[in-house]
Amino acid sequence: MLELKNVNVYYGAIHALKNLNLKINEGEIVTLVGANGAGKSTTLKTISGLLKPESGEIKFNGESINNLKATDLVKLGISHVPEGRRVFPKMTVMENLEMGAFIRNDKELNNDYEKIFSLFPILEKRKEQLAGTLSGGEQQMLAIGRALMSRPKLLLLDEPSMGLAPIIVKEIFDIINNINETGTTVLLVEQNANLALNVSHRAYIIRNGEIEAEGNAREMLKDDKVRKAYLEG
Ligand code: ATP
Repeated sequence: MLELKNVNVYYGAIHALKNLNLKINEGEIVTLVGANGAGKSTTLKTISGLLKPESGEIKFNGESINNLKATDLVKLGISHVPEGRRVFPKMTVMENLEMGAFIRNDKELNNDYEKIFSLFPILEKRKEQLAGTLSGGEQQMLAIGRALMSRPKLLLLDEPSMGLAPIIVKEIFDIINNINETGTTVLLVEQNANLALNVSHRAYIIRNGEIEAEGNAREMLKDDKVRKAYLEG
């Protein structure tokens, strides 16, 4: 579904992604594991069109998407939930969900709001509340719900567990699983690698902007080198 081939991304003089190669098959949950500053968020921003690669190729369903704008990528089916959630704080929950549907004008919109509310019942209760007054967990749910309103084929999630209590994290990860099982492919970036690998099919380890290893997520969980570097302590 998605393929990155020898992708190079710079921030000025900083070479943030170095000949990055990555593949995601339809139906998978894939996790990017790596230390702070390894290039995980940069990878997601590059896929969603917020950053442009200096060289290399990005293909989505066989089509080159290097030169497409972020809005066009949403139309193609790529939706990004950025780190730190970034809901529109002065808008209500409902208005935030409507923003997520900005590319659409079809008859199934109402149905889809209902789907979001059955996935996240708390959002229905908070429908008229300003998003900025929601708890951290509720804001994360709203950020995911808003992204789902564009009906993505590929959902990019950046640190969904950040700053949340363990019980809320578990709830969010159960929902990520559910979203995947109902047909959405997921690329996940997560500091909590243990948790992420447990829900993922495959994973890539990224270090200093380069892919260091790739493999089956469950096997990675058992790998001594991976455990020592990313899962313990
Ligand atoms: P974290 O988990 O800490 O967010 P990350 O793996 O997501 O880490 P990135 O945010 O992708 O890492 O950053 C990769 C590298 O690019 C880092 O060295 C970082 O300092 C640098 N970088 C990121 N954003 C910018 C920016 N806007 N300007 C300059 N350098 C940046």
